[in-house]
Amino acid sequence: MPDLREFLAEMEKSGEIYRVKGEVSPRFEAAAVIRRLEGKYVVYLEKVKGYSMPVVAGICATRERLNKALNVSSIEEFYLKLLEAIKKPSKCKRVEEDSVRRVQVEVNLERLPVLTHYEADGGPYITAGLVAAQSIDGEIENVSIHRLQVLDRKRFAIRLVPRHLYKLYVDAKSRGKPLDVAIAIGVHPALALAASASPPYGVSEYEVANRLLGGKLQLVKCGVVEAYFPAGCEIVLEGRILPDVEVSEGPFADLTGTYDAVRKQPVVEVLAVHLREKPVYQAILPAGLEHKLLMGVGREAQIWEAVRGVVPKVGGVNLTPAGGGWLHAVISIQKQVDGDAKNAIMAAFAAHPSLKHVVVVDLDIDVYDLEEVEWALATRFQGKKGLLVVEDVRGSTLDPSADQVTGLTTKIGLDATRPIDAPEEKFRKVRIPGEEETLRRVLGEG
Ligand code: MN
Repeated sequence: MPDLREFLAEMEKSGEIYRVKGEVSPRFEAAAVIRRLEGKYVVYLEKVKGYSMPVVAGICATRERLNKALNVSSIEEFYLKLLEAIKKPSKCKRVEEDSVRRVQVEVNLERLPVLTHYEADGGPYITAGLVAAQSIDGEIENVSIHRLQVLDRKRFAIRLVPRHLYKLYVDAKSRGKPLDVAIAIGVHPALALAASASPPYGVSEYEVANRLLGGKLQLVKCGVVEAYFPAGCEIVLEGRILPDVEVSEGPFADLTGTYDAVRKQPVVEVLAVHLREKPVYQAILPAGLEHKLLMGVGREAQIWEAVRGVVPKVGGVNLTPAGGGWLHAVISIQKQVDGDAKNAIMAAFAAHPSLKHVVVVDLDIDVYDLEEVEWALATRFQGKKGLLVVEDVRGSTLDPSADQVTGLTTKIGLDATRPIDAPEEKFRKVRIPGEEETLRRVLGEG
């Protein structure tokens, strides 16, 4: 069954789990360790001070691990598989009982090792909770990840960005009804990816995940509320978003590594808690690599597809980590005429409206190697010809430099491709003949 345990077993086999044996506090210490390790390993914190449950984090913090989660071997295959799953989601088998043993425990959110991450954070919050809900008529299902700030033993503040879950909540609220939700923590990475990939409203992210998992995802009906959770997940919280209460949520660090504003947000009342035997609590470090990748790769896939529509060949797309996996893109293309790079820039802006800065490079530049990207800017970019500036467009409210009232921003595209008719050898990277072989022989590298 495709669940977190199956994926962790696979990671264990390939030596990709770092087991931290020493005790760490859920307040700051866990975040510090995750931040240091997640780019190399899945982080498994065996002893979290005050809790019996271990914490796992950084599952999807590298592209290699994401590829393994989808069982593909290149980023191109990854994009194609994700795009196809969004276009052709597949119906899940829905069952009454989970196939794994599960026990119902007393509702007490203080028993979960919920982490506090950064200095000025408003408190601990769940970062890897998949929130599933249905429209009142049962026609529409949505699954998405939201900040769930622990208020007390039975309640969370939930951050609802005005998107799909927010719409379901507002529809229920307009009839004076709460919105039932199932919150699943500790899931197969394909589920987290589907829930982050933003398929259109009306498409169930469970069904996107099911396509990614080759039709093997089963959903289990909740006992108390009208919602489904994925079979085999570690922790299930059944609850409802109340129609008539709002509390202050935050402040919390977001993708950009800056603080998001404190806002009045709705409240989830938790009605039931079900655990697997020996449950593992899953966390995603906010503003960490996993957070950025989960948010970014779906957008990268959309940019990749859009740019492929205007130029014959796209090498890679990188929504860079320092750009929050959100605001900065590097795209490599093969040009046929000089205007192609600017068309690629415009296609990228259209595909991902939050995008702020785009650099387009030739195929010989590795989009993941920012040294090479800077080199391309230094040797191939001319501001007079290659700069595209678009003022006062809708950008990302996460960017503190954008107009905080209107959300307007200035977008910039940089064409760092070499002119199509210029002599190729003037722009070629210098190389040392036999370099790799020499390093292998003399220094034992590779
Ligand atoms: Mn949705």
